[in-house]
Amino acid sequence: MSYQNLDSFRDPEVAKTLSGLIAESCQSPMRIMEVCGTHTVSIFRNGIRDMLPEDITLVSGPGCPVCVTDQKEIDDFIQLARKKNVILATFGDLMRVPGTQSSLQKQRAQGRKVKVVYSAFDALTLAAQNPKKKIVFCGVGFETTAPTVGACILEADRQGLKNFFIYSAHKTVPPALDALMSMDTVIDGFMMPGHVSVIIGADAYLPLVEKFSIPCAIAGFEPNDILASILTLVQQKEAGESKLENTYSRAVSPVGNKKAREVMEQVFDRVDASWRGLGVIPGSGLSIREEYERFDASKAFELPPARSAAPKGCICGAILTGKKIPPQCPKYKIECTPTDPLGPCMVSSEGTCAAYYRYHGAITKVY
Ligand code: SF4
Repeated sequence: MSYQNLDSFRDPEVAKTLSGLIAESCQSPMRIMEVCGTHTVSIFRNGIRDMLPEDITLVSGPGCPVCVTDQKEIDDFIQLARKKNVILATFGDLMRVPGTQSSLQKQRAQGRKVKVVYSAFDALTLAAQNPKKKIVFCGVGFETTAPTVGACILEADRQGLKNFFIYSAHKTVPPALDALMSMDTVIDGFMMPGHVSVIIGADAYLPLVEKFSIPCAIAGFEPNDILASILTLVQQKEAGESKLENTYSRAVSPVGNKKAREVMEQVFDRVDASWRGLGVIPGSGLSIREEYERFDASKAFELPPARSAAPKGCICGAILTGKKIPPQCPKYKIECTPTDPLGPCMVSSEGTCAAYYRYHGAITKVY
């Protein structure tokens, strides 16, 4: 199917045709994981579940960067906010994520300098404007964010800034999908994240497809993008095929954004990283290379090992691995709400629990 303009990606008639084709093609139950949190929100917002046959179950994956940030990393951010002379710069979504004993929001209420920024470059500007302060940026995100943070480090280097630091909690998506497939999770197909794919390119998923023989489709974020990717996944499964289809080729090329990947490679090393819900995944993290380690907050500041523990009773780990859905959490809507969240999945704008909370009442299909 080809699209000429943005309206066609939202055209209800096209959506009707696509959902009809999905219903026609689907002969057996299928569990599809939408890896990306932005897909989760778009699926809810556009009522996609209501357009699908009963046999198709959509589960959310580990594609919300705030949600997969390990508890220890959250606790480290809080420790950094407590340091003398530090201004901690962070994306807003991290503010209310509960650490083991506090949150960045609580730290700010207690007088610590915690500033919400919209990009790492805002933090860089802050560093240039406040030479007597140490500016630490909470580096959370996937391949979409890491190149910008890398570019900031290069720029800080060029400017000779001595008061700019990054705590790199960045993670990369393909190793997480590999880890998921090695767990006891039932997934019959992956809807691959659009934004991450723009950077890493479609070919980055080929090893996964080959290793696990699983249907994969890269999807954009409009309703018809999502339906088109579901259609191809269903058709592949019913035909007994396992391949990678790029239904977002208007934005994603086979090789991705070469320049962004080069910056990432220049500044970061691949290391093992701990993910909430998935544990330690080999080669899934990005730490700052030795050459730029003067910008590395984890080396520049003393961070005693935190006694980190995930919020009691919160099942974010099971949600992020597609084993459970939020209404199966005993705390959901009772002790855990967007105004009083227990876990990150209820905090982040891309979090599955937050998306269920906001949209679930409007959905008629039981799943
Ligand atoms: S509803 Fe709240 S407590 Fe339950 S998994 Fe989601 S964030 Fe955690």
